[in-house]
Amino acid sequence: MRVLHPSGESGPLTMTRYVVLIGSPLKHSVSPYFQQAAFDYYRLDIRYETREVAEKDLKATVDDLRRPEMVGANVTIPYKERIVNLLDEVDGNAVLIGAVNTVVVRDGTLRGYNTDAIGFVRALRRGAGFDPSGKRAVILGAGGAARAVVFALLGEGINSVAVANRSEERAEELAAAARRVASRAEVMSLPWSSLSQDALFGCDLLVNCTSVGMKHTDLEGRSPLGAELIPPRALVCDLVYNPVETPLLEAARKTGAKTLEGLSMLVYQGAASFEMWTGKEAPLEVMFKGAAKALR
Ligand code: NAP
Repeated sequence: MRVLHPSGESGPLTMTRYVVLIGSPLKHSVSPYFQQAAFDYYRLDIRYETREVAEKDLKATVDDLRRPEMVGANVTIPYKERIVNLLDEVDGNAVLIGAVNTVVVRDGTLRGYNTDAIGFVRALRRGAGFDPSGKRAVILGAGGAARAVVFALLGEGINSVAVANRSEERAEELAAAARRVASRAEVMSLPWSSLSQDALFGCDLLVNCTSVGMKHTDLEGRSPLGAELIPPRALVCDLVYNPVETPLLEAARKTGAKTLEGLSMLVYQGAASFEMWTGKEAPLEVMFKGAAKALR
């Protein structure tokens, strides 16, 4: 049926709008479940759909976001870095991190943000009651997630950050970029081979930002650190969220360390994206339930 608008134009009075998840592969993605649950909670006529795209189709997929029914997008592996140059405007924090995971569409203009950093800080503060100010952190990994975590910690007044990565040059690259913006904090890189009790036991926060332990990959079932290296007095966070209890977190719990699951950051970063798209407060409980259900 064609509906006539009061203005005399024809067309539907309301239209279903869309947020899409751009990446590849997307088979195991959890975001569609908890984002749709949040849209449904507010009875918004918004569908969260996946767009599994090959690299050659990335530009066309991004341009497609300019259609009037598009609200925004999430961006995941492997396009978080490559999408930066395809957008009209990019938030300063996303430029610093070098990656965009959220696109907001306003009047056909594409604006890029990174909510991983906000999500990490909210998970730390609200999920674990941890205040990074004045603390010492060791970060395992130097990829996109590690960059978001390091810049987030600097923004929260961390006292020192040590970055250890399998490829040492990448760890030093991240540490050097962080030193350029760090006003007070000490930032260093550590060779992976020097990870020892001496290097680790003095830290207050240990964050695994590598993909080691991720389900459905050849790193499933593995921990980036031996149990003897886990600092028992630190908060141990794993960004890997599937499985919820990773081998690292299981070992940390056994040593008596406090732990924070990657699921918490996942939901908080998604909640920040939701608030940018809709202007509404994210229904956290609904989103946590949706994510946990998807992982089951
Ligand atoms: P990325 O850019 O591809 O970086 C992968 C990191 O893992 C690199 O530091 C890499 O080291 C390291 N790595 C890979 N295999 C390794 C191995 N066998 N031993 C030691 N280190 C290894 O990926 P990313 O975007 O940073 O994501 C990293 C992880 O965080 C993923 O599992 C992702 O799902 C998770 N994540 C979670 C959230 C959340 O909200 N919870 C958000 C973002 C990301 P090299 O540099 O040496 O290759």
